[in-house]
Amino acid sequence: MDKLTVNDLSVKNQRVLVRVDFNVPMEEKDGKMVINDTTRIKETLPTLRLLIERGAKIILAAHLGRPKGKRDPSMSLRPVADKLSEMIGRPVAFADDCIGESAAKAIAALQPGGLLLLENVRYYNEEEANDPVFAEKLARGADLYVNDAFGAAHRAHASTEGAPRLIAARGGRCAAGLSMERELKFLGQELENPARPFVVVLGGAKVSDKINVIDRLLEKADTILIGGAMVYTFRLAQGRKVGKSLSEPDKVDIARAALEKAKSRGVQFLLPSDEVIGTPVDTGKVNKKGKPVIEIRNPRPSSDPDIPDGDAGLDIGPQTVKRYCQILLGAKTILWNGPMGLFEDPRFAEGTNAVARAVAEATAKNGAKSIIGGGDSIKAVNKAGLADKVTFMSTGGGASLEFLEGRVLPGVAALSAK
Ligand code: AMP
Repeated sequence: MDKLTVNDLSVKNQRVLVRVDFNVPMEEKDGKMVINDTTRIKETLPTLRLLIERGAKIILAAHLGRPKGKRDPSMSLRPVADKLSEMIGRPVAFADDCIGESAAKAIAALQPGGLLLLENVRYYNEEEANDPVFAEKLARGADLYVNDAFGAAHRAHASTEGAPRLIAARGGRCAAGLSMERELKFLGQELENPARPFVVVLGGAKVSDKINVIDRLLEKADTILIGGAMVYTFRLAQGRKVGKSLSEPDKVDIARAALEKAKSRGVQFLLPSDEVIGTPVDTGKVNKKGKPVIEIRNPRPSSDPDIPDGDAGLDIGPQTVKRYCQILLGAKTILWNGPMGLFEDPRFAEGTNAVARAVAEATAKNGAKSIIGGGDSIKAVNKAGLADKVTFMSTGGGASLEFLEGRVLPGVAALSAK
């Protein structure tokens, strides 16, 4: 790693501004906001424990939801301070503003090994605008900076980019936290020179979201297995019919270019040979958001490369499951991003679940390094109870994709070089 990590810092008695990802799902219950999933808080605990042990004065900055520059009480981080305190077994002070007097007072009261959580940085529009005056106010109380929020590192915001630049400019060192370090290791270094065969599984809704990742991985992978609705844009590129399947007709050219690149580079690039199709039927009802409720009827396997006009492809089929799993079981490095079908509906979840099982099996039996690249694939792995059976699961959604595209993330670029 060419960036400093928290292990490289001398933090004793130093005020360390730590950007964390506490953007946890919350729900109102009996007039109180309750945290539904504490995974993101858990992720930061190793970094926080290390800083506590070494006697840092820890100032935590984070965002929650999209309050759009307003103090929306439903997006207050106060319940997160309580939850963190419970999880780490120490008091966590809370400042009801991330800048200004109340933050300054709370910072001044910090003892070595003490923790303070600042209120939601997105209560200010200046955060997302990376406003230099706001960034200075945020940076003012800190000697050093640590970023452990990989999921926010693809944004050049005040707490991820502006503040560390200012701290570095006055001689304060800026480092990656332990969670960030693992992300950079697994999504970066490990995939630079992967053990081969290197098999990539890509699924999800849109080719347009992942084309840059596909393009980059076509230069590294031995095999790319495609699933999800993305398949149907590739099918259009092959001159096939896709019926009512989700597809992007305006992205057919880029899909065709990817198919050609795979051919010219000798990368095995597989589309499903069969799928589970169904018939979408408009129920005439609308959901809470006013959108029509579509029901899928008559799910069935099909190995016809053309999908009938009234039907949609919703999962990879049994033959494809078999083939993809066989390939995965021979892999030494696996990268998986995106579900194989409409996996939220159990009738179309088997492709995704089978891939999750095969990834876990390849890890256990073949010693494969398996890297799950964020988003819905993580949900699928968790749901299948296989989270501890894979090598690494990325915490970032958009950030993982941008990093896999080979882009420099502003929140990483702002950290000090080793
Ligand atoms: P993404 O965010 O691009 O990874 O896409 C994930 C979403 O794509 C999930 O909500 C899936 O249900 C959806 N999806 C995957 N395959 C299909 C498909 N064949 N038809 C419709 N939606 C799909």
